[in-house]
Parts: sequence; structure tokens; C-alpha cells
Amino acid sequence: MSVRVVARIRPLLPKELERDAIVTAASTDDGKPPTLVKIPNPKNESEEFSFAFNSVYDHSTTQEQLFTAEVAPHVKALFQGIDVTIFAYGVTGTGKTHTMRGGLKLADRGVIPRLLSSIYRRAKKIMKDSEGQTTVDVSISYYEIYNDKVFDLLEPLEKRLPAGLPLREKDGKTMVVGLSERSCDNLKDLEGLYLHAEKNRATAATKLNAHSSRSHSVLQIKVTQTTGDQVKTSTASAIDLAGSEDNRRTDNGKERLVESAAINKSLFVLSQCIDAISRGDKRIPYRESKMTRILSLGQNNGITIMILNLASLRSYHLDTLSSLNVSSRAKRIEVREIENEVVFKQVPRTASNSGGLSMARQPLR
Ligand code: ADP
Ligand code: MG
Repeated sequence: MSVRVVARIRPLLPKELERDAIVTAASTDDGKPPTLVKIPNPKNESEEFSFAFNSVYDHSTTQEQLFTAEVAPHVKALFQGIDVTIFAYGVTGTGKTHTMRGGLKLADRGVIPRLLSSIYRRAKKIMKDSEGQTTVDVSISYYEIYNDKVFDLLEPLEKRLPAGLPLREKDGKTMVVGLSERSCDNLKDLEGLYLHAEKNRATAATKLNAHSSRSHSVLQIKVTQTTGDQVKTSTASAIDLAGSEDNRRTDNGKERLVESAAINKSLFVLSQCIDAISRGDKRIPYRESKMTRILSLGQNNGITIMILNLASLRSYHLDTLSSLNVSSRAKRIEVREIENEVVFKQVPRTASNSGGLSMARQPLR
């Protein structure tokens, strides 16, 4: 299976004008759902470019529709032990955060809150159906990558080390060393934790006189299913990437330029990785940024969904075109869907089980 790439064109906001809208969704055949994005050639407006995606959602798509079509079907796979990664890519102001986090009103909730509640619902069902044989633990980690440094968003700001947290490869996966992980046995606590961390993120950005659209945020939801001595672990990652605009074209102060360089670099490395993979190159430059190491596009054995967010405004023309170019190439990336291995829990040797008595095994389901 390849990376699934879908585009979402946000509606115009109250102050935006219909005549400035230049990006449209289109179908290959009448009656078919849209899979094409059309945009004029900036050098010759009578000409139109067409980009093909697995699916294209226009301004009328609700949060619920997007979740139901693109994310909900993979929750089952997650519980089968397959890792699932969903990431939003696009220019600042195109709806990445709206898509991933969304608003507080029920209908406005984005992918993350819906995914959390869907995971909890399934976990409860599995525990109930197994009549207590299987326990499911759900925990989250949440961090941001800012200037190529990793910061834990579940820890208080005062505890932040200026250098950030290091990465390490373990079992073919990239881990953040020293990252905190919080387990919650109900949805409400977990959502509370997430919202608190979001506040942390905003405060950190304000203190640094920065903007959160300049960092990548990564939420990881780890599902651990234990049946007897068998443990199955899988992770869903929801990533809100920094804005993909080319800051060389915007008027940035000196300080901003240092930031932009690091942000641009990781997004530039991402586009290079996508190109290298779609060309079939042996060498993929993953290691050149922390974000690409973590994302490991095409290297992780799971399901990956890339959501390209688009605003149809003329003022975004060149940046929109470049984001369309990058993401339409990402479709060619193959991902192997492999279940994580079941691990046998080590039973600690205590006085009661060290005397050669074999522990009664729970029946496996
Ligand atoms: P980004 O995270 O890509 O910078 P935001 O998610 O902050 O962009 O979206 C920019 C603005 O557009 C926000 O005011 C947001 O509420 C609005 N917006 C984005 N997508 C939608 C949508 N699908 N429906 C309604 N409003 C949207
Ligand atoms: Mg945002």
C-alpha cells in the first residue's frame, strides 16, 4: 500500500472574496467523487494545472465526513497492531490545525479528538467482549519540533532543556529519549491532558516571540493490549506540520530567518525524501532533520495518510503550487502494512512463582 494522499480545500473565510478563489476540486468523470485539484498556471492564467490525489475534499466537507472517510476505517487496523500515521501538510492558514485539532464545539472537533474517542470506544468494547481477559491501556505523548529540537509538551515549560530531547532508533523505529507518556483510563482525562498541552504550546510560542505555525506538533497515542502474557502495542500518530510557505518570499526579520531556515530545512528535507523515494533511490535523506526521522515516510510499516490542506486564494498561488507538487509525488511511496510483533510479558520472579510452579496461562483469544 502506498501513502494515501488526500487534499482538503478549506472554505473562504468571511473577509475573503470569491473572485480571489483560484483552486478547485474536480472529478475525472461526471458523477465520480473528486480526485483532482485544479489551479491556474501563474505564468499563463489561461492554462490550468491538474493534480491527482486519492481523494479531494472541498469547502463543503465537514469534520465528521473527513474523519469518517479517512481516519475511522484505520482504527480497526490500529487494534490489530498496525501503526497509523496521519499528518497535515500545507501553507499557514490553509486549515491544518482546524483539520487535526479543530474547534471545541462538537461538530467542529478535528481528527485528534475524534480519534481519541474512537480509540476509547473500541478499547472498551474489546475489554467487554473478552470478558476481562484482555486489558487495553491507552496513553499519549505529545511533543513539538521547533528549530530541529524536540520539546515535550506534557512537561511544564520550566523543565524544558534548551537543547531539547534526543532521538534514538529502536526496533527500526525512531524514539524520542526521555519523552513522557501519560496513561488515562477515561477519555475526559485524556482530552484534558491534550488541551492543557496545547496551552503549553501556545505559551511557549509566545515566550519565544514565535508562532506555533512554525513548529511541527506530534501527538502519539499508544495502545497496549494485554491478554495473559501476550502484549500487543501499536501507535497512532497525528502530526500538524509547520507551514510550508517559502519564507524567502515573505518579509522576515533576522530572528524569524533563523527559525524559518530550520523549519524550511525540515520541510525541504521532507520534499527531498519524497522525491528520492518516488524515484526509487537507495539513499533517502531521512537523517537530515528530526521531523523526517520521526516521520520515516515509506520506512515505517504502517498506514500513512497525508492530508494536504489548501486555501483557494490567489495570494497563496505560488506556495499552493509548491505544496501540490510535493504532495502529489508522495502518493508513489510504498508502505508495508505489517502488524507489530506480539511481545511476551516477563513475569517477575517473586517468592510465589520462583519455586518451579508454572503459572496458569490465561487462554489466548
Ligand atoms: P493552519 O493550521 O494551516 O495555519 P488553521 O487551521 O489555523 O490553518 O486555519 C486558518 C483559518 O481558517 C482558521 O480561522 C480556521 O478556523 C479556518 N478554517 C480552516 N479550515 C476550515 C474549515 N474546513 N472550515 C471552516 N473554517 C476553516
Ligand atoms: Mg496551524
